[in-house]
Formats: sequence, structure tokens, C-alpha cells
Amino acid sequence: MKRTLYWLTHDLRINDNLALHAASKSEHLLCVYVVDKQWFQTNNYQSKALGVKRWHFLQSCLNDFNQALLALGQQLYIVYGDTLSTLAKLCDNYQISDLITTKLPGTYEQRLIKSLSDLKPELAINTVEQYTLYEQAALPFELEQLPISYSKFRKAMTGLKPPTLAPVITSLPPLFDTMPSPTVFRPQWLPNSGYQEVKHGCYFSGGEQYGLRQLSHYFSTSAAASYKQLRNNLDGWQNSSKLSAWLSYGCISARQVFHAIAKFEQQYGKNSSTECLYLELLWREYFQWLHFSVGAKIYHFKGLAKTAPLTSFYNERFSKWCLGNTPYPLVNACMNELRLTGYLSNRGRQIVASCLVNELSVDWRYGAAWFQEHLVDYDAAVNWGNWQYIAGVGVDPRGGRHFNLEKQTTLYDPDGLYQEKWTKNTSARMVALDSVDASDWPIIAEIHHDS
Ligand SMILES: Cc1cc2nc3c(=O)[nH]c(=O)nc-3n(C[C@H](O)[C@H](O)[C@H](O)COP(=O)(O)OP(=O)(O)OC[C@H]3O[C@@H](n4cnc5c(N)ncnc54)[C@H](O)[C@@H]3O)c2cc1C
Repeated sequence: MKRTLYWLTHDLRINDNLALHAASKSEHLLCVYVVDKQWFQTNNYQSKALGVKRWHFLQSCLNDFNQALLALGQQLYIVYGDTLSTLAKLCDNYQISDLITTKLPGTYEQRLIKSLSDLKPELAINTVEQYTLYEQAALPFELEQLPISYSKFRKAMTGLKPPTLAPVITSLPPLFDTMPSPTVFRPQWLPNSGYQEVKHGCYFSGGEQYGLRQLSHYFSTSAAASYKQLRNNLDGWQNSSKLSAWLSYGCISARQVFHAIAKFEQQYGKNSSTECLYLELLWREYFQWLHFSVGAKIYHFKGLAKTAPLTSFYNERFSKWCLGNTPYPLVNACMNELRLTGYLSNRGRQIVASCLVNELSVDWRYGAAWFQEHLVDYDAAVNWGNWQYIAGVGVDPRGGRHFNLEKQTTLYDPDGLYQEKWTKNTSARMVALDSVDASDWPIIAEIHHDS
């Protein structure tokens, strides 16, 4: 008898879910999400893998997914602890024969699957490809031959058959007879910040329902037809699709976004904006395959380059950057928006990343790790891939990007409105890059991970 454990990760949706569809074929099913203690511990870069804003978003995603499962006669078991030992124990306790999960490019996830398979050789593990737009077999090249620039990748991907959506799920197999009720126990190591405090400022509400709502909302307005003109603006909900957070936790799929663009084009015609939006989705795709292809190199200081960049680690500069206390007002505004909301426009991300690498000469990995903690839409491949690109150790054929801060300010915040908005009510102030007097350091506040 097939006793299946579906381990959920970045696939928290009912619709277009091939893994759930595969799980629906088993006789008994256990749906599990593991919240790992390690995510909340400070790492080598002085940051945490999961900050409070994204943790809040994730909890809403889990709650929404559980409600949807209940409507299908199933439920979600949220388990707190070490992922590997938790999964192994569940497999033992419930005589699991099959484990289904979504295939992810992250080295952490890949290592976990490998360790689980070593630990439980009798377990049939099915990793379902659905985090990307296309399956590996549909790529017009072998993964080892992945083009080393985005423009080559884009050209190679032209004319591929559109990806198809997974069948609709109308019922799910029952739980095991012996299952206890899901525990309400919450371990002490979880962040204890109040709901209102964390929710404050956050633009996104987690879950498939909200994700689908934003998907249909964005494509029901004229904003999608002006994406190309608006996407570089620093401020404004309608300037870009704002789908990234839901994409990251898999509340919606890249395939669903692809089809929403295609439907919009059928209704209103194709234009440079719809094309541009598709090309951004393709950037996401490129970084996922890049991560699959280069593995842990995406986190290495040297990245894909032959030599390491000429940066170092300056604690004071890094802290000032994190807290929006640099000599650059535009950078401060962006960093405040990121810290207070968990989101920053693509242009804002490029500006602050370039500043950390070029003006502050700080090791880019600290910036990537700060983003990882603070972004609600954090995606391993996209985040580290973009950071490498700007730091000149990634897939940029031009060898890195240096944004002129004065020019960026003139172009994207000529009236200073964005800077005023994000520096007005914060404790941030503009200070010199380095302290010259011992009494100037430490600066006004230590890094607040929970702010
Ligand atoms: C240094 C840096 C770090 C970044 N870290 C992340 C991250 O952790 N998670 C994340 O989702 N995006 C990241 N991005 C990419 C981009 O900034 C966001 O995807 C985008 O701002 C999200 O807003 P949106 O959904 O409105 O995007 P839109 O402009 O509406 O684009 C639609 C979708 O295309 C994809 N996309 C857009 N821009 C990029 C890009 N530059 N690279 C890859 N895919 C892209 C996203 O999935 C996005 O949701 C990063 C960019 C930089 C420069």
C-alpha cells in the first residue's frame, strides 16, 4: 500500500501543483511542512536565513494552504525542528513508502534530499519539477551547456512550446488512521514579535488566495500595458506586478504568470511591456537553471569568476548600509524601505547593491545575506545570482555594474519625494562613511534584526 508523505516547501498552493497531483494518486497521504530552527539563527554574515517579515508572510501562506487542504478532506501538519531528522522520524513512525516534494535548485534542499535518501534507501523519493517555468527535459540544451549569458539563454529559449498547467485537484486521499491532531505547540526559538508590529508596513499578505488575487488584479488594469515605462520607478504599487513574494513560496507558479501574460496579450494585444514582463520572468528562470547548474558556487565570494573581487569586510560600513546611515540619501531611503516593509523595487535593489560593492567596498555576500533575511520575496537563485551579477562575479558579460548614485537620483527621484518618504520618520541620518574619532563608533543603533 502506498503511504505517501508530501513534504511542502516552495509550493504552497492547490492550483497548478504537479506534486500535489502526484500525491493525490496514493492511498494514504500526510502533508507536512517543517519549520527549521536553523532558519532563525544568526549565520556567518551576521544575518538570519529568515527574518520576521517573511516569517509572518510564511505563516499566512501555511494557514491559507491548510484551509484549502481542509476543503479537500486533508490537512497540513506543521512540524518544528531539524528538517532531516523530522522527516526521517515521520517516515519511521508512519511507515511511509513514498516521499513527494518539489525539486528546488537550493544546495540546502538538494543536500537534504540526498541525506534523506542515504538514511532511508527503501524510501521512494519523487522530486517534482515545477518551481521553474519549464522542465529540464524541455530545455533546448543540456544543463551543463547552459548559456553563460542571459541574452544567449533568452535566444535559446525562443519558440519553446508554452508550459502546460497541472490538472485541477478535486479530492485527496485520506490521512493515516493513527494520526494525532496537529500540535499547537510553538517552540521557544520562534520569533516572538507581535503580529501587528510585524504586519506594520508589510505590503503582502501570504497565501494562494492573495497571490491569485494580485495576479488577476494586475492583469485587469492598464498597468501591465505600461510595465516597460513604469518598472524602474522607485515607488508605487502598480509600477510592477508585485508577484515575487507569492512566486517565491509557490503560492502561484511561474506557469500561471506566463499564462496570465499570454491571456492579457490575447485580449489587449502584445506590446513592448508584455514582452518585457515575460523577459523578467525569464530572468527568474535563468537564475534557477544557473543555480541548478553551478550549485554552491552561487554563494561563493569568487562566484563564477576566475578571481575574487577586490572587496573586504568593513563592519562599520556594513552596519551603516543596513540601517540606512550612509552618506548617500537615496541609498538610505532604499535601505529603510527594505527594512521596514520587506520589499524594494528592482531599481532600488540594484542601487543599494552597487553602493555596497563599489562605494563601500564591502564583500557582496554580506549584502546578499542581509537581503535574504529582510526580503519577503527572497529566492535563493534570484537573490544570490543578482548579487553576483552586480558584484562582477556572476553572469554579467560586462563584469559587474556600478550605478552612479547622483545620476540615479536625478533620474528616479528628481524631486526627492522618495527620499523624503523613507527617511522622514526613521532614526537614520547621513553620516560619514568611516569614523575618524573613536567616540563616533558604534553608530546610533546596533543592527536590529527584528525591526
Ligand atoms: C541585488 C538584487 C537582489 C534580488 N533579490 C531577489 C529575491 O531574493 N527574490 C526575487 O524574487 N527577486 C529578487 N530580485 C529581482 C527583482 O528585484 C524582484 O524580482 C522584483 O523587484 C520583484 O518585484 P515584482 O514582482 O513587482 O517584479 P516584476 O518587475 O513585476 O517582474 C515580474 C517577475 O519577474 C521576476 N524578476 C523581475 N526582475 C528580476 C530580476 N532582476 N532577476 C530575476 N527575476 C526577476 C520576478 O519573479 C518578478 O516577480 C533581486 C534583484 C536584485 C538587483
